[in-house]
Amino acid sequence: MFVYERGIRLNGSNVWVDVGRKVETCIVSHGHMDHAKKHQLILATEKTIAILKNRIGLNDAHVLRYGEPFHLDGFSVTLYPAGHILGSAQVLIEMNGRRLLYSGDFNIAGSATAEPIEIPESDILIMECTFGKPHYRFPHRQQIEQQLVTFVERTFAAGKVPVVVGYALGKSQEAMKIIGAAGYAMAVHSAAAKMARIYEQYGIVFGDWQSLNKDDLHDKVLIVAHHVTKTRFLARMQNKRTLFLSGWAVDSGFRFRVRTDEALPLSDHADFPGLMRYAKQVNARQIFTTHGFDEFAYHLRQEGYDAQPLKKQAQLELF
Ligand SMILES: [Zn+2]
Ligand SMILES: [Zn+2]
Repeated sequence: MFVYERGIRLNGSNVWVDVGRKVETCIVSHGHMDHAKKHQLILATEKTIAILKNRIGLNDAHVLRYGEPFHLDGFSVTLYPAGHILGSAQVLIEMNGRRLLYSGDFNIAGSATAEPIEIPESDILIMECTFGKPHYRFPHRQQIEQQLVTFVERTFAAGKVPVVVGYALGKSQEAMKIIGAAGYAMAVHSAAAKMARIYEQYGIVFGDWQSLNKDDLHDKVLIVAHHVTKTRFLARMQNKRTLFLSGWAVDSGFRFRVRTDEALPLSDHADFPGLMRYAKQVNARQIFTTHGFDEFAYHLRQEGYDAQPLKKQAQLELF
């Protein structure tokens, strides 16, 4: 039913899922660049297509709706919300009553800007495991959101400019939603601002924000991607305080590596207990892990699952 050849392909067909090189037809789980290329034909949610059109352009695209099976080369393909970023999806593929679920990137802890995850059951599961080591446990979301707002308050109170650093798609919009809801005005760097406009088209409201203008930063929270902190304009800014938003902030050395003053584990991925809960809900008889530590498959086996890492070079018949 499935073949793995540095990417997942539907067996006997030329349809791929999230493959890392350009192909003719690919189902794309979401708009992050490690999952999408400018394929000849992309099958994805309307929001993912809008994001990809803006980021890399499109050749041809076909919209798939959450929960509605689409028939293709004898397979049935159904997308389910993944809770990761706007439009993100898990991909359930069925043939002759057998089911394979590809998780894509997912988050089960809730999000301010992504559709809540819906987890289907499946026989075979291919799951991401970005934070698949036991010490990756994120605090409760409400607590992290509160810490983010407190950072902004403290920084303004000290007469400094709060600079929130995060990935341009997904993380920046989460930060905007939380900071905007707390009543602060924001100046958003161009890549994140472009993505925020797509979010707005789909009904997400961010509050008081504008594109970053160096000459008008008064009383504004800056939202920028990591590379922007190295630009001359920000590197030279004296009265700033920087905060990086990432699940990797759980590692104590993280903020030194990324050279920010602070870091908070606001993640759009599941943490270790979240990955375990997800595996339990899918209730698959066989699990392959991808996008993360091989060690996670070992932890799944400890819990009684038949699990193994999906090896990058291997050719493997999955079904
Ligand atoms: Zn992603
Ligand atoms: Zn990813």
